[in-house]
Amino acid sequence: MTERTLLMIPGPIEFEPEVLRAVGRQTTSHTDPEFAKAFGRALGRMRDVFLAPTAQPFIVAGSGTLAMEMAVANLVTHGDRALVVNTGYFSDRMGEILSRYGAEVTHVRAPAPAFDVPALADIERALTGASFKLVTVTHVDTSTGVRAPVEAIAKLARASGALVVVDGVCSVGGEELRQDAWGVDVALTASQKAMGVPPGLALVSVGPRALDAWRARKTKVGSLYLDFGEWLPIMEAYEKGQAAYFATPAVNLVLGLDVSLAQIMSETMDARTLRHRRLAGAFRAAWRALGLRTLPVREDITANTLSALYFPHDVDASLVGRVRAEGVVLAGGLHPEVKTKYFRVGHMGALRESDVVATVGAIERALLAGGHPIAPGVGVSAAQGFLAGALADARGERARA
Ligand code: PMP
Repeated sequence: MTERTLLMIPGPIEFEPEVLRAVGRQTTSHTDPEFAKAFGRALGRMRDVFLAPTAQPFIVAGSGTLAMEMAVANLVTHGDRALVVNTGYFSDRMGEILSRYGAEVTHVRAPAPAFDVPALADIERALTGASFKLVTVTHVDTSTGVRAPVEAIAKLARASGALVVVDGVCSVGGEELRQDAWGVDVALTASQKAMGVPPGLALVSVGPRALDAWRARKTKVGSLYLDFGEWLPIMEAYEKGQAAYFATPAVNLVLGLDVSLAQIMSETMDARTLRHRRLAGAFRAAWRALGLRTLPVREDITANTLSALYFPHDVDASLVGRVRAEGVVLAGGLHPEVKTKYFRVGHMGALRESDVVATVGAIERALLAGGHPIAPGVGVSAAQGFLAGALADARGERARA
């Protein structure tokens, strides 16, 4: 039996061989001139991927949670008010981080029990009359698969004078996110999802208004490791191709990031977000055909980077193990309210059509093995039909162009 599996969880994902080769290279000194050049290129490409030429990128060793803490530690001082646009588990985490750094936190949520985005009118109401220093949004909440309309929320938040912090851990490099154009002050992610690099890098892109707010602080940042002030000269030096030291960078992961960001940019951001949308569309067609219901209540707030799906009434969490036996690794539930009632399929990064078909096929076989009545091939056929339609549309568009 082969030990090969297809990793289809919402991070870490399947990585490109060229990225893994870079990560597996002999480690050089962090002051090596070739490494300094690679670090500098990665920083420059972060501006391209976040669509944020005016922002300052930071690349530090750590996970996505560290990236969240970096944003909060630098922007929040004791007693500042923060509004969390809450769409699930990771929005709760942002609230917890904010309160640990001394913020007074208000949450705005969609009415329970729906997995939805709070209405813009409710967000606007929450913003009126209160002076929030910052508003946080989880672009895609990985626990629910709900995608928030970042552009519209950022507009409201900006109009109220608040800074906008976007947790893009499950979106950057997969979903459309235009940091500068949408007025997002801080966008952050981690390496292991749509950025296509093994876990271990926190990536934070900080716009000019957020840097000004950090400069205007009257108190020291409570964490030395997370202080923009410690890292800024390091990032500026590396971006010029010169090494500098504050704390040891994750040398091999940065080499991997340099390769992955180059791959992302050669695909182009527009083509990449379109591909994620197309492949997510194929998955959704399969879910409909298989009678699998998604957690998000509407398609326009459903993520393109993962699917969160209720188990059918006659199926339990053992499905994930049966799909694993078919060679595809999925994730269980995470949101505490429904944890045992659903499962998650990640679909981001270097994903292709064949991965969609393989994953849907494995889920079908596992459903059948568990005695769930479906017609073999019904999900695969729906996915293939969607992909064929998308191909025909693309051909038609090219012919018209
Ligand atoms: N935010 C979101 C939206 C996430 O999906 C995750 C990780 N799944 C995190 C934050 C935390 O990232 P990490 O696990 O890398 O600390």
